[in-house]
Amino acid sequence: MISFNDYNFEGKRALIRVDFNVPLNGDFQITDDTRIRAAIPTIQSILKRGGSVVLMSHLGRPKAQENEFSIKHIVNHVSEKVGTEVTFAGDCISNGAFKITKDLGAGKVVLLDNLRYHSEEKAGDVDFAKKLSAHGDVYVNDAFGTAHREHASTATIAQFFPNDKMFGLLLGGELESIDRVLGASKKPMTAIMGGAKVSSKIDIIHQLLDRVDNLIIGGGMAYTFAKAQGGQVGSSLVEDDKLDLALSLIEEAKAKNVQLLLPSDSVNGDAFSNDANTSETSVKEIADGWMGLDIGDNTIEEYAKVIEDSAMILWNGPMGVFEMSKFEKGTKSVAHAIAKATEKGAYSLIGGGDSVAAINKFDLVDQVSYVSTGGGALLEYLEGKVLPGVKAIRD
Ligand code: AMP
Repeated sequence: MISFNDYNFEGKRALIRVDFNVPLNGDFQITDDTRIRAAIPTIQSILKRGGSVVLMSHLGRPKAQENEFSIKHIVNHVSEKVGTEVTFAGDCISNGAFKITKDLGAGKVVLLDNLRYHSEEKAGDVDFAKKLSAHGDVYVNDAFGTAHREHASTATIAQFFPNDKMFGLLLGGELESIDRVLGASKKPMTAIMGGAKVSSKIDIIHQLLDRVDNLIIGGGMAYTFAKAQGGQVGSSLVEDDKLDLALSLIEEAKAKNVQLLLPSDSVNGDAFSNDANTSETSVKEIADGWMGLDIGDNTIEEYAKVIEDSAMILWNGPMGVFEMSKFEKGTKSVAHAIAKATEKGAYSLIGGGDSVAAINKFDLVDQVSYVSTGGGALLEYLEGKVLPGVKAIRD
């Protein structure tokens, strides 16, 4: 495999698959530019080493070629962050775009329009990938957020660069960091899983039971466990078809000697709203008309202790509805406990959109070891699945 750092980019046009799928407000202003900032080191490194850069990304979920999903809205911002002028080339496979990238001079940066304006992108179409490949002499995949998708620009295209394909600094760094957690030699290792539903995290929980010493559960999924154990959970979020599964996970943890930590108490609301009245009860004694929206104080204390004594930490998913201030305490406390453990020498990896949003909200990004840009991709990689975007480069 070719290493990004060793490759000679001089006089080469680098076609980079980036993940610039950033949130925009009604005025097409970027509300969170994390993904753009994350790709800057790769871009600047290539420019510094005498290459030119052609950037391609998707943005949102266009059905046709709606204006609201045009990459043109982010050109100025990218230009500002890269620190050089960025040319918008229009449609990614238009004649105009090919004209611009054909003889691209060193130091130049071009941005192509939304790849998903063409249905061939998601279909992984070979002809479309071949057309795209004409924009570059070398292919760099730096989009971890879409590495689990077998799309034209993330996977298919690599075959047209048999000797000139590689991971960018971002994607390479992501893989290195996750491999480090997966191959964890430092113990105890603790995984903290939260978020809305247990069903979306089953596979990873199974996978983690083979690796971790402690598995901490919080968020909406905890109430399925509580109900499965005979608790009254009021109108909390519960997946009734996953009760047996919850019980079997508890058994599996026991059999594998993993300490499975479930909440003992819960902060409840009488509505799914920050204006709700609140109560704090045992997680198994939530009255009708109330729903559990955060972990309680006893749980926080127990979880924080385990986290602070850990040497490896993986966190995915909030402990409660942290978007509402009344129900943010559990997530905030866990985030602080992770920061504390990190300060004491633990390696902490945070991934998944909502835990990243939480760590940003509580201003702790600089106090954890690594914040992953991948949501679904991270989970699939942790589950042990082969990511098409990764395989295409490694093969
Ligand atoms: P996920 O995408 O599965 O990681 O879920 C993240 C979402 O779960 C966040 O938007 C949280 O607000 C939500 N969430 C966390 N805890 C609860 C809960 N107890 N009840 C309902 N939603 C929750």
